[in-house]
Amino acid sequence: MSFFNTKIENLRGVGTQRAQLLQKELGIFTYGDLIQRYPFRYLDRTQFYNIVDLHDDLPYVQVKGILRGREVLGEGPKQRLVAKVADASGELELVWFKGLKWMQNIVKNHQEYIVFGKPTFFNGKAQMSHPELEEVTEAKAGQSFLQPVYNTTEKLKNYHRIDSKAIMRMVVDLLKIAAPHIQESLSPELVRHYALMSKADALQQIHFPQSTELLQAARFRLKFEELFYVQLKLLRQKTQRKVTLAGQIFKEVPSLVDFYKNHLTFDLTGAQKRVIHDIYKDFCSGKQMNRLLQGDVGSGKTIVAFISMLMAADNGAQSCLMAPTEILADQHYVGLKQYADQLGINLGKLTGSSRTSERRVLHEQLRSGEMHMLVGTHALLEDVVQFRNLGLTIMDEQHRFGVAQRSKLWQKNPDIIPHVLVMTATPIPRTLAMTLYGDLDVSVIDELPAGRKPIVTVHRYDTNRLKVFQFLRDQINLGRQVYIVYPLIEESETMDYKDLTDGYESVARAFPEFQISVVHGRMKAEEKDFEMQRFLKRETQIMVATTVIEVGVNVPNASVMVIESAERFGLSQLHQLRGRVGRGAEQSYCILMTGYKLSKDSRTRLETMVRTNNGFEIADIDLKLRGPGDLMGTQQSGVLDLLIADLAKDGRILTESRAAAQQLLDEDADLTKPENLNIRRHIESLPATAVNWSRIS
Ligand code: ADP
Ligand code: MG
Repeated sequence: MSFFNTKIENLRGVGTQRAQLLQKELGIFTYGDLIQRYPFRYLDRTQFYNIVDLHDDLPYVQVKGILRGREVLGEGPKQRLVAKVADASGELELVWFKGLKWMQNIVKNHQEYIVFGKPTFFNGKAQMSHPELEEVTEAKAGQSFLQPVYNTTEKLKNYHRIDSKAIMRMVVDLLKIAAPHIQESLSPELVRHYALMSKADALQQIHFPQSTELLQAARFRLKFEELFYVQLKLLRQKTQRKVTLAGQIFKEVPSLVDFYKNHLTFDLTGAQKRVIHDIYKDFCSGKQMNRLLQGDVGSGKTIVAFISMLMAADNGAQSCLMAPTEILADQHYVGLKQYADQLGINLGKLTGSSRTSERRVLHEQLRSGEMHMLVGTHALLEDVVQFRNLGLTIMDEQHRFGVAQRSKLWQKNPDIIPHVLVMTATPIPRTLAMTLYGDLDVSVIDELPAGRKPIVTVHRYDTNRLKVFQFLRDQINLGRQVYIVYPLIEESETMDYKDLTDGYESVARAFPEFQISVVHGRMKAEEKDFEMQRFLKRETQIMVATTVIEVGVNVPNASVMVIESAERFGLSQLHQLRGRVGRGAEQSYCILMTGYKLSKDSRTRLETMVRTNNGFEIADIDLKLRGPGDLMGTQQSGVLDLLIADLAKDGRILTESRAAAQQLLDEDADLTKPENLNIRRHIESLPATAVNWSRIS
């Protein structure tokens, strides 16, 4: 058994009771767990603030002063210990609400302290509650170093004295005995090439940095290693699959040339051309394609899908395009049918509402190969749907589909697995995509077609509703249509939000002269479709909806999007909703409605929406606000349980570590070369995790 698997209770001074607490509260079971519990910040013991310079906006800071007077004030739950600390510039009040008895015995009058905490102001007086205190002693006076601060819990701190300092002492003890057991986990070549600090030094310096430079180096080293092993695992899977799975070759493109020359009515954007080239290269490789295509709403993914399908058709293979809803499937069909007709290609449609007689014909045509392309919904997956030679499957808005559904599509060609293209408008930051979808190839359309008018986005308070409604009226009278979106109907009655029904009633009262559609999640699919169709055909002017309209719907004449209680939506969701407008020639608007009371994060989200239309910039900010674990579909992702790397900030390290992992696999796929011994040994020492690396939906 390795040293780092030793149970934490064996560490000097820990014992059974504290070991249990560490396990329960912090998940620290072994020496390895403790040594990898890196500090979340450091105290710079060289910097002190003058008390007079403190202000509200400062983060945690430290001051140095003499303690003057301490007394317990108040009764019962309001009881608190108050002390004052003074330096040459002024006085600071320290307050404790918990652990009074203990603190009372600790703080000494007339003692000089280093006080660390977050300054706040109360009646114009500087205050810190629950600061950390450290006595200034002769020995420590001249010292300059960064002191680690460890995460712990209120329970551990207040009832068991396991505060950051206590953890620090454990780490000191552990590092003393751990040194001979720390093995370098990267190859000498990687350490040299990326100028990495050794593992042993990095573990020492991350806990007790001797300077900020050494701390930087230690952090870089540990982040690099962490991301390197994540990427190595993902890339190995990808390589394995590429080796084992062959794909049909689609090299000839006569119809495509015809299409470009004679039928395509607009110029493809540079980004579209680049993506089509990526796909064509995959088609010529002889390996099965597994590609994720990311493109902001309105960036023109559908035409890329069609061109890919055309390449398949040119080489005698069938293809299908699967959409998550009937409305979307209809839209794709209508949009692509005209092109297919012009090119003499048979394009069919299959959805839940296709009639039995139609289906029978379609099934037959698919089996015979007469039908070249198929657009549809989940109905495509049914076992009765069989192809003569399915060569390409495309999934639109892929987060709606599960892994099981994708594998069903694969099985539609027993001879050779079809190429797979998944398309998503959920802009995932590149760093996150590389980790989450590390086993897929990723293409990005990062450019909108020329001539689009950027959507004008504004934030309005509920008190201005009358003005907003007047604006909607004016727009509708100009011939436009309007979406009004509400947060999902909540189970909780107590929440102070207008729900859809209230909203509908007030809209109906305000606009007696217009027709209104309603769509929400509790309606049956047919009812939803019926209402959507009415809106599409312009029989209704206003669509009141919950977020069900989020995905893909294209109503070019709808040019105004009102989002009610906009503070309740995440940034990415707001951006998705806004993407429903801005699809026609007219100037489009997005109006974000809120009350006056807004949190800081809500304000940031609203300001971001008003400032930019760029989906990737928005996704990056969203990632920073929420952290990666919160992003759609990634909650259960073991991939994101990172110890030190931060996907929102460490994009550059991620890119470098991925390149390093790729190069390693190119040179030594089985990791059998002696110079890669460290890496092989490290992988073998890792616990076999239950992480599902193939999860991509
Ligand atoms: P999304 O990426 O959101 O699925 P679509 O494929 O629906 O976007 O495209 C949105 C609109 O832009 C469609 O009407 C499409 O015909 C049009 N379009 C796509 N590419 C271009 C282009 N290069 N130039 C002009 N219009 C384009
Ligand atoms: Mg689309």
